[in-house]
Amino acid sequence: MASSTCPKCDSTSFETKLHSPHNSNFKLQFIQCSRCGCVVGTMDYYNIGYMLRKVMEKLGIRLD
Ligand SMILES: [Zn+2]
Repeated sequence: MASSTCPKCDSTSFETKLHSPHNSNFKLQFIQCSRCGCVVGTMDYYNIGYMLRKVMEKLGIRLD
């Protein structure tokens, strides 16, 4: 299986960092190279899948 590599420094180590972009009302999780900080993706601050599952549980909705 191929390894993900940083497009800037070829490192294969990544981390997430909470960030509030200027002029934004939302916090984001940046996925960045842990060596040089190059941002390779973003995720929502909240884990939408987890939140959706909790709402479904409260509403008694089951998928299986
Ligand atoms: Zn890098």
